[in-house]
Amino acid sequence: MDLKSLVRDISDFPKPGILFRDITTLLRDPQGLRYAVDTMTEKCAPLQPDCIVGMESRGFLFGVPLAYQLGIGFIPVRKPGKLPAPCHEIEYELEYGSDRLSMHQDAIPPGARVLIVDDLIATGGTAVATVQLLELAQAELVGFCFLIELQNLNGRQRLPNVPILTLIEY
Ligand code: IMP
Repeated sequence: MDLKSLVRDISDFPKPGILFRDITTLLRDPQGLRYAVDTMTEKCAPLQPDCIVGMESRGFLFGVPLAYQLGIGFIPVRKPGKLPAPCHEIEYELEYGSDRLSMHQDAIPPGARVLIVDDLIATGGTAVATVQLLELAQAELVGFCFLIELQNLNGRQRLPNVPILTLIEY
């Protein structure tokens, strides 16, 4: 199946000059959604993760069905102030300014094998911050899965040396 044909390109969103890859058109397509989750499952199963960590908010859309398919649990990484129990928190740089991500301190048992899932990797900043959260939790990172990789931004080069699985590349 041609998954790329289900992704819609929107020019000048969220600001002028940005070409936004819109996955809502893939999500609403029954065959496309099933094919995307099934393909992620096939690619990620050999990594034998104990759990999946997904980033707010579009990481949830693929992380949860993938965890369900693999028969493992899902742990959300969220913007500060959203999670109710004590959290690990990491600040990371954006193009303009900085942002923070948080994860419950007790979410991952130390040494657990973790797969990081998000809809898209661009500069890799979000993924690197999530890796740092996993380090605080003393988890073992076994790989990444992204529906989309924007290859010209070289995000992959900022990531640790574990498998990086992607379904659609631009
Ligand atoms: P990065 O931190 O620069 O790698 O950006 C990745 C994050 O930004 C992911 O969580 C994506 O959901 C979001 N993102 C960046 N560009 C796009 C896009 O074109 N479409 C959808 N999400 C995007």
